[in-house]
Amino acid sequence: MPELRRDPIVGRWVIIAHERAKRPYDFKSDGQGLGEPRVCPFCEGQEDKTPPEIIAYRDFGSRPNGPGWRIRVVPNRFPALKIEGNLNKRGDGIYDMMAGIGAHEVIIESPRHHTSMATLGEDNIREVLWVYRDRLVDLKKDSRLVHGMLFKNVGEGGGAGLDHTHSQLIVTPIVPVSVWEEMTGALEFYNYRGRCIFCDMAQQELAVEKRIVLDSTHFTAFCPFASRFPFETWILPKTHASHFENIPKPGVDDLAHVLHQVLNKLELALDNPPYNYIIHTAPFDHIELPHYHWHIEVIPRLNKVAGFEWGSGFYINPVAPEHAAAFLRELEVGPSYPALALFERGSGRLQAATTHGS
Ligand SMILES: [Zn+2]
Ligand SMILES: [Zn+2]
Ligand SMILES: [Zn+2]
Repeated sequence: MPELRRDPIVGRWVIIAHERAKRPYDFKSDGQGLGEPRVCPFCEGQEDKTPPEIIAYRDFGSRPNGPGWRIRVVPNRFPALKIEGNLNKRGDGIYDMMAGIGAHEVIIESPRHHTSMATLGEDNIREVLWVYRDRLVDLKKDSRLVHGMLFKNVGEGGGAGLDHTHSQLIVTPIVPVSVWEEMTGALEFYNYRGRCIFCDMAQQELAVEKRIVLDSTHFTAFCPFASRFPFETWILPKTHASHFENIPKPGVDDLAHVLHQVLNKLELALDNPPYNYIIHTAPFDHIELPHYHWHIEVIPRLNKVAGFEWGSGFYINPVAPEHAAAFLRELEVGPSYPALALFERGSGRLQAATTHGS
């Protein structure tokens, strides 16, 4: 059973999950050593290579755990947290801990072996967003759980175990520290200005334009003023909303378009970089919050987070967000666009980004 332990100095929780050490990758595959499995367990027809599905969007008449699906959600085979049991919160001297209760699910985004979400159609991405929403709505009924984090790891540098396009959901009995920090900072701003910092940020970015990547009906994508990483891009709903799972249908439709555009732009600009995206959303146990605003953070992994960053909490970003945004904004995404790195490698800017930290 995994265990959650609290660092008594800074209050950060850590998941001790020894079973994860056994995982060569997250799913069983047929007789091979390390490296990519010969048979991809996420491809249609290989449903028996994953734990039984939790939910799938299927064609009419198809059977669970067989072919005929469009999106499929399965438990992670080596989960960081487990759904059975009770929290058993307890102390040991100065230390606090609880059982590693939670959910760890994998969202397989296509039955075909696409290795990039950017190559999926907008209709496909729309269904992925609906399934994200469905899973959060379902898991928030569990009173032991307080927060759901949807995220995506792409490429070895992004921590992906398999290259078939997928994302993950980890639902925890604790609010993760990164969300907690954002909520605390946003509440402070709200307390003296009476407004949501994220709403103000979207408005200011749209007014000055220089960090905008894309502006659509319901969303804006921009490189944040204090970007930690080269080409870090945030997608923010333009109307205030604290919980992702309350997204209305027009929002899902528009977000599918924006996410498709942003991922394609990043892939074109940076030649299919490893990346992560995360959805930061409010904890389950709150009604609509006036000060917190859900958003997606897309983080290309061009440079390694190294000693100084770990030690200081500072990030050194060799690409100004204004330059990154201007570059991404100009890129036109279309099926005939040549897939090559357009960012001038000779200029040293991208080289600075990729060699930093080594
Ligand atoms: Zn596959
Ligand atoms: Zn807001
Ligand atoms: Zn965030």
